[in-house]
Amino acid sequence: MSYRWLALTSLGLILSLGAVPLWALGSVRDQEIAQCLPGEISSWGDGQDRPAVASPMVFVYDHTAAPPWFSEQVVLSAVKAAAVAWSQCGVSANAMARPLGAAIAKGTVLVQWSDKSSGGNFGLANLTQPSLSLGPAAFQMLQTRNPAHNARETLQMVISHEMGHLFGLVAHSRRCVDVTSYYSNGKGEQCLLRDASQFRSVPEYRSAFPTACDLQRCRLANGNPQ
Ligand SMILES: [Zn+2]
Repeated sequence: MSYRWLALTSLGLILSLGAVPLWALGSVRDQEIAQCLPGEISSWGDGQDRPAVASPMVFVYDHTAAPPWFSEQVVLSAVKAAAVAWSQCGVSANAMARPLGAAIAKGTVLVQWSDKSSGGNFGLANLTQPSLSLGPAAFQMLQTRNPAHNARETLQMVISHEMGHLFGLVAHSRRCVDVTSYYSNGKGEQCLLRDASQFRSVPEYRSAFPTACDLQRCRLANGNPQ
């Protein structure tokens, strides 16, 4: 009896200490998010990666002009979550609400809602005057066209994507699942994925947070190879 108990215990130990097997990671998309295989990093070549605009990264969120269905808490949480996720690349990052009327301190990154600064897009990162602008009109259009859609997921993805540019990933990824990806280059070329049949398996194939390949590119751009 004690022998059997020992055998079970050591089997349990092996299972819990061993590498996570592929089947435990879920769908192909989940695996693409969790692992970056050798040679898998691919970009559209539309920019040159560079170090983050600041180190550490401090994001200051201004809720003025936000769509009414996003509370300050929801957006700030999304900014914080993206900052924490990107900080895995070796550049520490944090986020806070902008105190009313407070000036933006040098070295911090303003996160704001502005159709002008976002150029009519869902989001736009400005690397020269470090800021991340979200587009109220774009989110309004999404709400009007598809009210059943979970806009918080789109919000998270847009914030994570634009933050990636500020962390130094200037070029867009050609790997569909990367949060820094573009699905197409507008010239008929499509993004890459391990199993093309999976692309329509979810409404948004792109991850809402940086993937293993996004983080690897970020480490390279910031001289923090692992
Ligand atoms: Zn972009």
